[in-house]
Amino acid sequence: MSVNIQIDSPIEYLKGVGPIKGALLKKHLNVQVVSDLLNYFPFRYVDKSVFSKVKDIYISTEYILLKCKISAISEEGQGRQKRLVALAEDETGVVELIWFQGANWLLQLLQVGQDYMIYGKVNFVKGRISIAHPELDLIRDPNNLKAQLGYQAVYSSTESLTAKGLGSKGIGQIIQNLFQYIHHSQIEEILPQYIIDKFQLIPRYDAFKKIHLPKSELDIIYAKNRLKFDELFAIQMKMFLSKIKRQRQSKGYLFIQLGDYFNDFYKNYMPFPLTQAQQRVIKEIHHDMHSSYQMNRLLQGDVGSGKTIVSFLIMLIAIGNGYQACIMAPTEVLATQHYQTISGYCEKIGLKTCLLTSQVKSKVRQNILNELASGEIHIAIGTHALIEDPIVFHNLGLCVVDEQHRFGVEQRAKLWKKAKNGNPHVLVMTATPIPRTLAMTLYGDLDVSIIDELPPNRKEIKTMHLKDIQRMQLYNFMKEQIEQGRQIYFVFPLIAESEKLDIENLTLGYEKLLQYFPLPKYRVSIVHGKMKSASKESEMQLFVSGSSNIMVATTVIEVGVNVPNASVMVIENAERFGLSQLHQLRGRVGRGADQSYCVLMTGNKVSLDALKRIETMVATNDGFKIAEADLEMRGPGDLDGTKQSGLIQLNIADIQEDNKILVAARNLAEAILNKDPELSNPLNIRLRNQYIDEEDNSWAKIG
Ligand code: ADP
Ligand code: MG
Repeated sequence: MSVNIQIDSPIEYLKGVGPIKGALLKKHLNVQVVSDLLNYFPFRYVDKSVFSKVKDIYISTEYILLKCKISAISEEGQGRQKRLVALAEDETGVVELIWFQGANWLLQLLQVGQDYMIYGKVNFVKGRISIAHPELDLIRDPNNLKAQLGYQAVYSSTESLTAKGLGSKGIGQIIQNLFQYIHHSQIEEILPQYIIDKFQLIPRYDAFKKIHLPKSELDIIYAKNRLKFDELFAIQMKMFLSKIKRQRQSKGYLFIQLGDYFNDFYKNYMPFPLTQAQQRVIKEIHHDMHSSYQMNRLLQGDVGSGKTIVSFLIMLIAIGNGYQACIMAPTEVLATQHYQTISGYCEKIGLKTCLLTSQVKSKVRQNILNELASGEIHIAIGTHALIEDPIVFHNLGLCVVDEQHRFGVEQRAKLWKKAKNGNPHVLVMTATPIPRTLAMTLYGDLDVSIIDELPPNRKEIKTMHLKDIQRMQLYNFMKEQIEQGRQIYFVFPLIAESEKLDIENLTLGYEKLLQYFPLPKYRVSIVHGKMKSASKESEMQLFVSGSSNIMVATTVIEVGVNVPNASVMVIENAERFGLSQLHQLRGRVGRGADQSYCVLMTGNKVSLDALKRIETMVATNDGFKIAEADLEMRGPGDLDGTKQSGLIQLNIADIQEDNKILVAARNLAEAILNKDPELSNPLNIRLRNQYIDEEDNSWAKIG
């Protein structure tokens, strides 16, 4: 075995790994090279720092570490009852060790008369103390027990890995071996000394060693502190650097004037007066667009706060300055609805629009592509089809991305390539209110505008929770509302893994509803993702025009759809939805002048977690409170879409728990880069090495 192991050596070169285990580690844990393994942190520890005596075991003892001699081994029982029993004793008493599997190799391995370290969960069986499937370690050197004691790291693994010797213990063993080969000099220090001193951090090498092989509780604390700091600091550095880069490299298109289109529309065709908040954000955005740097702004506003009109007015400014604009939506349904609204506005002031989704084919599509390239079309509305490769704009100056939490970073990057010289301004809109600390981490490089006011005359949506046994109550309520001329959304969950089942569930629910709401008195429409585009469209249209009373749907209506007369939202299997999704769905109602309702239907039994979510929904309409509660209950990693969108993946830090470190890291990164944006100060050489690409000095290292 070669001992020339480097931080980037493939994992299979390590002692105890080899090609088979190496392939498993790659496949299941995405551990490819040595440094991946070093960064595969334990998720908890067991305290094996002191031995107890058998006589110290009480009825309430849970886990225990003993030093005992094995005094007897025997196989007991028959067939499925068969088990291996060993007696282990110290000078104060005896415990029974029991194994239900693996008897054969244990028989070979265990040596009567030898001392072992024994760790496991204590049971009392028929008055005897027993430990089932204990961990056993032969005591190698009784005079140097210290070497075997300490805190033992526990790693997450899977059943199939454990079966192949890569359970927590197996992984721990490999990592322990690894530290025989990896030395101080191989784990480079990445922080300047003045930062290490300032925050009293331990050296990086020590941190890695202690996180995997701690000797004490303090070791764990220091190690975590250091590694969390590194992680959060790196994120903040990258964000500030990308901000500086953007501001320097890509001169933004200048939208100096509001332009004729804006003025014409604003004076003559506004469908309603803007709220204060809408006016304010338009000013903020316009300010960005004539400040000569390229805008990257997040427009945050609760569902129904009126982001569409804001984005439309901003697009008019772009066009008034001689550019094209586009708006991208996450679903076809939403793109279509935007198209209807926006093309309606545009007709009045003589602008040309198009709808471009993957459904638009052949001739029509070619025509659109031609007109986008020639500049004939002013505003393009569509799905991600808009950023597919063959599409060329004449001069795209602004791109609005609606409901960004469905759009990944990659798509954003593709967008940059759509403009010929320079980058278009980007306005990202989202109804998912992102709590401050999370926003700081996720969108640190974006500027943020917030619409914190709903249009006037909106009433609180009354939310209630009904269980299956109260279903008749639900139907009666729905009938009442329909009598009064209201329309109803009836939503079923759709979860990708079991899509087929979900569609069946939806269809069944639809048929059941038809029994209670039969033709010709009632009309029920249905929309789901697996339907043909044309029938989806016509069913949708039935509801939008008011001809159908109930729209049965999956979460395709989750974002953006706007039917002011629909004032009731029924959510089936509400226990299967996350909080922010429930809030998004509820936001589909409450748009007209009438009192709106949201009914959360669940089974008769609901888990405690689900109940908490539902109670939160019943208690508040405030999207911000809901986002905070969501973050608290699920952790930021689960926050709808942040994981999938690949914006950020934290390995060790926790946004909630480590808020203090985050803020410190952020302030530090900002202060350093304000003073030394090129990182040319010799004191910052380690940072320069990591973050700045010397060859073209263009921050190429950052993504
Ligand atoms: P969201 O922010 O969720 O995208 P929309 O832009 O779809 O919200 O707007 C929701 C509804 O509110 C729409 O029917 C829109 O016409 C209406 N609306 C927006 N702004 C105002 C306003 N200032 N006054 C009255 N109604 C408004
Ligand atoms: Mg919207």
